[in-house]
Amino acid sequence: VPSLPTPDLVAALAAIVGAEHAIVDPDIVGSYVTDWTGRFHGDALAVVRPHTVGEVAEVVRWCAAHGVAITTQGGNTSLVAGAVPQQSVVLLTRGLNDVGPLDPDAGQITVGAGVTLAAVHAAVAGSGWEFGVDLGARDTATIGGMVATNAGGIRVVRHGTMRANLIGSEAVLGTGDVISHLGGLAKDNTGYELGALLCGSEGTLGIVTAVRLRLVRSFAERVVALVGVANVAEAVALAGHLRRTVDSLDALEVMVAPAMAVVAEHLATSAPFADAGAVLLVEAAADHDPTETLAAALNGREAIVATDRAGRARLWRYRESQTEAIGRRGVPHKLDVSVPLAATAAFVDDVMALGREHSAEVFVFGHLGDGNLHVNLLGPAPDDERLDELVLRLVASRGGSISAEHGIGRAKRQWLHLNRSPAELDAFRRVKAALDPAGILNPGVLLPD
Ligand SMILES: Cc1cc2nc3c(=O)[nH]c(=O)nc-3n(C[C@H](O)[C@H](O)[C@H](O)COP(=O)(O)OP(=O)(O)OC[C@H]3O[C@@H](n4cnc5c(N)ncnc54)[C@H](O)[C@@H]3O)c2cc1C
Repeated sequence: VPSLPTPDLVAALAAIVGAEHAIVDPDIVGSYVTDWTGRFHGDALAVVRPHTVGEVAEVVRWCAAHGVAITTQGGNTSLVAGAVPQQSVVLLTRGLNDVGPLDPDAGQITVGAGVTLAAVHAAVAGSGWEFGVDLGARDTATIGGMVATNAGGIRVVRHGTMRANLIGSEAVLGTGDVISHLGGLAKDNTGYELGALLCGSEGTLGIVTAVRLRLVRSFAERVVALVGVANVAEAVALAGHLRRTVDSLDALEVMVAPAMAVVAEHLATSAPFADAGAVLLVEAAADHDPTETLAAALNGREAIVATDRAGRARLWRYRESQTEAIGRRGVPHKLDVSVPLAATAAFVDDVMALGREHSAEVFVFGHLGDGNLHVNLLGPAPDDERLDELVLRLVASRGGSISAEHGIGRAKRQWLHLNRSPAELDAFRRVKAALDPAGILNPGVLLPD
């Protein structure tokens, strides 16, 4: 049963952000309490929409003083229920939407936390620079959410995760203190890197309000190829070969056969390489057309290739529509994991076998260049986590991570101990206590009880 907001809370939020941005209408509040997959539901006391860092700080100070929890929400595309509230105020960051200035010599841009990834790409287009992080939820995911989760995506193989592309941040800590480090110095070793600490902290230490991003130079020419391979072992070997030989390699994705079939059905088309055990999607980008370099590296293998924008987008649909295609079939359990490359093929075989044993459909795709696989399970009821646990234990036993890029959120915190020692978890708790002493920021997310 959702709690009702107290008159004090409503009046305090309205005094800080204005009555129109302090929302308690249950119909509107109700639209912010379910995660992107539809698997996790929560409840909220109110929704608050600040537009400045000062407003965020005032909201946090009031909530800290009154013991009211805050769940920060950007685009709500989290795949681990990180932005689902529980008896808390939902703080929407989308009003923090300043874009720029862009420094064309330094190759940096400052943006508000509520700006979408697509808006950042649009803002830097034509400047000679690009933002080196990209992912399928680009139209909705916000930069603040991506920093909070240290998002990865499809270009990590070349440019790294959010942390590698972050020069500085501005944030409000759980105390209500504002820390700001947006000066854009590429070299700055003056103590603890708080921005890097907040990056990946999933909103449990502070609310990111703005960031300074590192840009990468843009390339005029791109090529995308789909390549069918017999099995995952061959995909891993080919991926290693491409990483060694194609210096313009920009993305390296994999779709294991059942995932390829389900997306083809969703797109109402036939699956390319119908007999293949897995399909690789490879993108290369350079100043001059990289098609020949890629073709040479593929060494006579059959491939479907596109260099024009529309053709490339058509090939990317097989990869980027995966999440949607699986979501259409049911409510998936999404496990985003990484295992050492050498263990990848055996891991996929074992996961498929587990699926068969438990009458679950298993769809595996992911960022093979980074050893990152998205394991999607269909069949178990939303609250039946027995198969999830078996898969995550398998991951840990093979030296992998139970969360490669989506974070821990609410969905995986009971299994964090599979990857983190008691000493590490203790250190996590002490950092949390220092930066959020009242424990109001995203309780129930990341840290086990
Ligand atoms: C189709 C699809 C494809 C995806 N592909 C990828 C992918 O390739 N790689 C990848 O890494 N992820 C991917 N994701 C997951 C998701 O897009 C990322 O986790 C993204 O970073 C979330 O951004 P958001 O703005 O939607 O954050 P939300 O979902 O709103 O929040 C995510 C977490 O960050 C916290 N948070 C949000 N904003 C802030 C802030 N300003 N300050 C502090 N904490 C904050 C929230 O409390 C929550 O814990 C995908 C999701 C979908 C739906």
